[in-house]
Amino acid sequence: MLIGVPAETLAGEKRVATVPEVVEKLVKLGFSVAVQSGAGEAASFSDETYRGAGAQVLPDAAALWAQSDIVLKVRPPTEAEVAQLREGATVIGFIWPAQNPGLMEQLAARKATVLAIDCLPRTLSRAQKMDALTSTAGVSGYRAVIEAANAFGRFFNGQITAAGKVPPARVFIAGAGVAGLAAIGTAANLGAVVRANDTRAEVADQVKSLGGEFVKVDYEEEGSGGGGYARVMSEGFQAAQRQMYASEVKNADIVITTALIPGKPAPKLISAEMVQSMKPGSVIVDMAGEQGGNCELTVPGEAVVRHGVTIIGYTDLASRLARQSSTLYATNLLRLMEELCKAKDGVAVVNMEDDAIRGLTVIKEGEITWPAPPLKLA
Ligand code: NAD
Repeated sequence: MLIGVPAETLAGEKRVATVPEVVEKLVKLGFSVAVQSGAGEAASFSDETYRGAGAQVLPDAAALWAQSDIVLKVRPPTEAEVAQLREGATVIGFIWPAQNPGLMEQLAARKATVLAIDCLPRTLSRAQKMDALTSTAGVSGYRAVIEAANAFGRFFNGQITAAGKVPPARVFIAGAGVAGLAAIGTAANLGAVVRANDTRAEVADQVKSLGGEFVKVDYEEEGSGGGGYARVMSEGFQAAQRQMYASEVKNADIVITTALIPGKPAPKLISAEMVQSMKPGSVIVDMAGEQGGNCELTVPGEAVVRHGVTIIGYTDLASRLARQSSTLYATNLLRLMEELCKAKDGVAVVNMEDDAIRGLTVIKEGEITWPAPPLKLA
């Protein structure tokens, strides 16, 4: 089968769905690989390196979409792209079926098979190697700290120099899921004093093991919803949390917010007054911008200065580290291709009896199979 990798078309998207070192491994699985000319350029992978790894480089997207048996994407395909997809072909990438019903209908009409990497059942330990949400969140959490360091006018680490004593930066992280934990580790490695909060008490040990201090809300309520995710908290908890955040945010030089609740708007944790209480030159990176933001003053996609505080609401943090995130994403997709092609004969087989594959198969030969039934507990 021919695997095709088109250039991403969303404005500003720098990632690519496969990288040369993964091409070699796909070829070993028996597949042929075609990459659109220039597809990897923004992630620093030249056409030459893809060719050297065994891929064919096709000059334009139309030829690639029309010839491929399997198309690997990062972003959901556009209407124009789906119109070029060969009938009955397979598409693998981020699809977000709940947010994109029109796209689902269009893909089904092409009799496509669609594997949405965002629908992978993440709690299956066997699925972790394919978990692109985790690798993307990890890159984004790292990059959030780098963006904060870039906008912050001081060192992260404390220093004693002949020119005087410099205190370490104080970083507060709201939400210690995958992205928050990556941010904690990165900020601690840079030498900052890191404190973090989450509504799920189970993350306290993980925060500590990465060099942060877990700050608890003074209110007894557990925040775990289903599948390791958070839930909306009671009014009483939220009031106690606001009080605690007011004091943490005021004392922090840098605040990084990552709090999300599946299917709900992001909880508003940082009020305009809290921003106003921060020292001029402080920085907030709000990673929840796409879901409305954790901070009242965030402008999604932009960096703004309010009350002397830089508030960064970039929604493309993973794309800002394109070579790294493309490499991790391509490896997640390689692990998926290995599952689909156990015979290593270059033929992908979508086995709906396999829980992991069933979970992410949202369309099978034109039939919408999303949402998958809940996983049976072992
Ligand atoms: P996410 O991006 O949905 O949320 C980020 C974090 O925000 C979560 O830790 C959540 O608890 C926190 N949060 C939500 N509301 C909050 C509030 N009001 N105040 C403070 N914090 C709040 O989640 P994620 O990072 O994608 O994943 C969260 C968890 O899912 C993981 O930590 C893990 O337990 C689970 N998970 C499991 C696996 C696996 O089992 N293989 C893989 C990935 C994730």
